[in-house]
Amino acid sequence: MDLKLVGKVALVTGGSSGIGLETVRLLLDEGAVVVACARGQERLQAMTRSFADAGFGPTRLIVQQADVLNDHALASLADVVRQHLGRLDLLVCNAGQARLSTFATTGDRDWEDELRLKIFSVVRPIRRFQPLLMESGAGAIVVVNSLLARQPEPHMVCTSAARAAVQNLVKSLSVELAPSVRVNAILLGTVNSGQWARRYAARDADDQRSMEQWLADLARDKGIPLGRFGRPEEPAAAIAFLLSPRSSFTTGASLEISGGISRFA
Ligand code: NDP
Repeated sequence: MDLKLVGKVALVTGGSSGIGLETVRLLLDEGAVVVACARGQERLQAMTRSFADAGFGPTRLIVQQADVLNDHALASLADVVRQHLGRLDLLVCNAGQARLSTFATTGDRDWEDELRLKIFSVVRPIRRFQPLLMESGAGAIVVVNSLLARQPEPHMVCTSAARAAVQNLVKSLSVELAPSVRVNAILLGTVNSGQWARRYAARDADDQRSMEQWLADLARDKGIPLGRFGRPEEPAAAIAFLLSPRSSFTTGASLEISGGISRFA
């Protein structure tokens, strides 16, 4: 299916790793012009080199260091988008990471940090880029969220609560920004990405399993019906579809990308 993304301008936050990086790759392959941001300069430079080698130079991909929680950094990113591209059609709010903690081990500061990350990683980019998205004529936002929004896990207590708040926000935004901009979410289960590589690296020192085996065991223990973790290109495909004019009558929706692990109907 032609997603009709040729020439569209997209911004992917957290575009230097995992799901964000695969989304950048897919949008480029589909003919979009892509802007990607993240905090770490090294990975941004590496992706710039690797995409340039694949034929996607500066006219197709603009990469800029920006922390989505930093409004000055977002303002400067918006200036770059305006000056170099003059418009923005698509926004993927993807930047972030989870926090592993129970109620007993989550202090006020942890709550504040987690709520700030989850809420403002969505609020600030949307607020900053809303004027451009409204002018697009086919504006679309996808928020990368988690199944935790609807199915909380006690060992991720504040991430779960923050994800639920984001889900609620997506619904409000889908009404307030309509009909100019569509706003949808994907709800992730477990997807093999930088986050899981970090958790694998932090496993018990005497655990000799390969990462593949470790993930396979986790998938079995979690009872994921499709029997494995997701691959980053799988949520990326869902994101591209929800951004595309092919989903032009879809807003305020949530698409589960979880291998069937959810227990809500
Ligand atoms: P990765 O760690 O592979 O990628 C996260 C990306 O976000 C990196 O590019 C990182 O770069 C960037 N990032 C993190 N914080 C910020 C920030 N404040 N400002 C700008 N960029 C930032 O993880 P995933 O691909 O798994 O994560 C993508 C999203 O999916 C996250 O929001 C995550 O919470 C969510 N998610 C993932 C799940 C999974 O199983 N993988 C499950 C549920 C949700 P840098 O650190 O250099 O800034």
